[in-house]
Amino acid sequence: MEGKLIIFSAPSGAGKTTIVHHLLGKMPELEFSISATTRQPRGTETDGEDYYFISKEEFLHLIAKKYFVEFEEVYTGTFYGTLRTEIERIWKKGKTVIFDIDVEGGLHLKRKYADQALAIFVQPPSMEVLKQRLSGRGTDSQEKLNERFAKAEKELGYAPKFDVILKNYDLDTACSEAEELVRNFIEG
Ligand code: ADP
Ligand code: 5GP
Repeated sequence: MEGKLIIFSAPSGAGKTTIVHHLLGKMPELEFSISATTRQPRGTETDGEDYYFISKEEFLHLIAKKYFVEFEEVYTGTFYGTLRTEIERIWKKGKTVIFDIDVEGGLHLKRKYADQALAIFVQPPSMEVLKQRLSGRGTDSQEKLNERFAKAEKELGYAPKFDVILKNYDLDTACSEAEELVRNFIEG
């Protein structure tokens, strides 16, 4: 059984995880697509909840077996990917899949699923604010922050390729707008 997909993409620090968590708390018809990654868990992150944390060997093995719908080496040496079984697991429950995924991965899924998918780009007010949010989150080393800033500049240019650009200036406003967009898409 096939269903719908909601894709949230943006540069790191734009606020997509915060908005996706808000939606998951309010809309039981949504379920989060848990990606596989080779990075280490951060803070309170839990295996099988936030990500499937796996080794690089295991990730490469899953690529060879063609288990990924899409995957990216999002940062040098660090892989992230969406497992086909994850989408099927959620559709089997009659739910809509919601993704928190990088910009390239988001566009890849949109190309693959076309009208079944709503691709939303979360836009921060400026590069400066994005940097403040990412530094303020306090989860990344200076080296990791610099890598994320460099990638963000390029990713901001991809916004027009998405179905919708959602401005995340005031968080409450962005969450309400996101909820309306998602409800309209699911009901439509
Ligand atoms: P992403 O998932 O896109 O990397 P996060 O959701 O982790 O981004 O948000 C990055 C940081 O910015 C977090 O500390 C979050 O609390 C904060 N944040 C998110 N949206 C806003 C907003 N509208 N105003 C201020 N801070 C925000
Ligand atoms: P983080 O390390 O901050 O959790 O995620 C880094 C980036 O990887 C974010 O932009 C996040 O959305 C993205 N990401 C998470 N899961 C996937 C995935 O399955 N595929 C792709 N392409 N990117 C992902």
